[in-house]
Amino acid sequence: MSQGLVTMSYIAASILFILSLSGLSNQETARRGNYFGMAGMAIAIIATILGDKVTAYTILIIALAIGGLVGARAAAKVEMTQMPELVALMHSLVGMAAVLVGFSNFLDHSVILEGAEKTIHELEIYIGVFIGAVTFSGSVIAFGKLCGRISGKPLLLPARHVLNLGLFLITFALGNLFLEGAETGGGLIPLLIMMVIALAFGVHMVMAIGGADMPVVVSMLNSYSGWAAAATGFMLSNDLLIVTGALVGSSGAILSYIMCRAMNRHFLSVIAGGFGSAGGGEAAEIEGEIYPIEIEETAQLLREAKSIVIIPGYGMAVAQAQHTVNEITKLLTSRGKKVRFAIHPVAGRMPGHMNVLLAEAKVPYDVVFEMDEINHEFPNVDVSIVIGANDIVNPSALDDPNSPIAGMPVLECWKSGTTIVMKRSMASGYAGVGNPLFVHENTRMLFGDANDRLQALLKALQE
Ligand code: NDP
Repeated sequence: MSQGLVTMSYIAASILFILSLSGLSNQETARRGNYFGMAGMAIAIIATILGDKVTAYTILIIALAIGGLVGARAAAKVEMTQMPELVALMHSLVGMAAVLVGFSNFLDHSVILEGAEKTIHELEIYIGVFIGAVTFSGSVIAFGKLCGRISGKPLLLPARHVLNLGLFLITFALGNLFLEGAETGGGLIPLLIMMVIALAFGVHMVMAIGGADMPVVVSMLNSYSGWAAAATGFMLSNDLLIVTGALVGSSGAILSYIMCRAMNRHFLSVIAGGFGSAGGGEAAEIEGEIYPIEIEETAQLLREAKSIVIIPGYGMAVAQAQHTVNEITKLLTSRGKKVRFAIHPVAGRMPGHMNVLLAEAKVPYDVVFEMDEINHEFPNVDVSIVIGANDIVNPSALDDPNSPIAGMPVLECWKSGTTIVMKRSMASGYAGVGNPLFVHENTRMLFGDANDRLQALLKALQE
């Protein structure tokens, strides 16, 4: 394939990626957005393989077959609840690729560059390896935290800010040594030391972030993986990789900003780590009477209600209850009730998690509302049903300044006539804090697996 045709294919792929991102910004067009993305990626891969830079076809086909098989197996096996971990793991692979490409570029002496061009290329390698290593180790720790293998509690080393600053300054000094050493062929040692420091930096950065701030980390690592891909593009002189990486990097940065705003956090304080736990105080103990409820009483409350709001959380994903939720919604709507969904921006374990589940169950988009759109409506709501949600409906975020989630806006369902909370026990949510909603006088606790209980509720409503 001629270089001109490759460039044209790259432009077409870039346009498809932009259309894909714009499609993904809305639930109704998200499926189309995915198709654009897939088409763009197919064009990009075919054009790159057929371009004149690729010659080692045997190795490439073996690598594609192995990678494709592993990817297809992982995608087929992964449970919906494991998606966030899988995404974190994917980010780590982008980081690893940037590191490996950096080293192979550095060790490849077949391309002879001179003067400024050489310095720029070395800088690309140095920065690429740095971003890649931070992305890799940060994503591996995020993976551990998301699947519960690493505690969600922030690890707060003494003088951690000084430590971070120190590591950063050493990285700069090593950069100088690397550039000097690269002239004489001795840059490998500074590059390796910097990689170890960057790996430690990534681990430290994510370990210092408390459970409640993880959504920002997830979107931030998404952004880093984009910049790592862009850095790889610079090292390989591949324009499409630069464009794609920049698109992912900047959209991830915008998502981090949206997440910070949704959680009322400053980006820098999240990155600095330990936010919310640094106040020194302990979150208040939750005391009060619990009012359990059973299926028949719940069904009766719903029969009498005119306006109902459903608040899904991570537990709905665990129970895979979205389809039953949709059946109940259809039934209640057919009986003239106003049923709406309230979605908190950090509900679940990844951005848009609840929207994806509801879309999968074919819940109509026009009854799904963002927190800002519906929060003021709760005083006019007869019954709120909280399905496997906890942190996102925790009033202590507003009342308790010592709570790790203090300051985060939450869905104020306790203002509705009655709140039914569906969960299996009194256990805390991801942030690990008690929830006074469960002992609120208007709250009724419907214990059990969300899907089992909802199926029983559906049956009771149908009778
Ligand atoms: P939470 O993790 O706060 O609470 C989920 C609740 O679901 C638990 O208390 C659990 O209680 C219940 N549950 C679990 N399984 C079931 C089941 N089978 N049936 C019924 N209930 C069940 O989830 P939220 O959605 O309220 O909040 C999200 C949290 O995750 C926030 O702290 C957010 O910061 C964090 N997070 C969000 C990310 C994102 O991008 N959205 C990324 C990373 C973290 P029990 O065990 O008693 O059943």
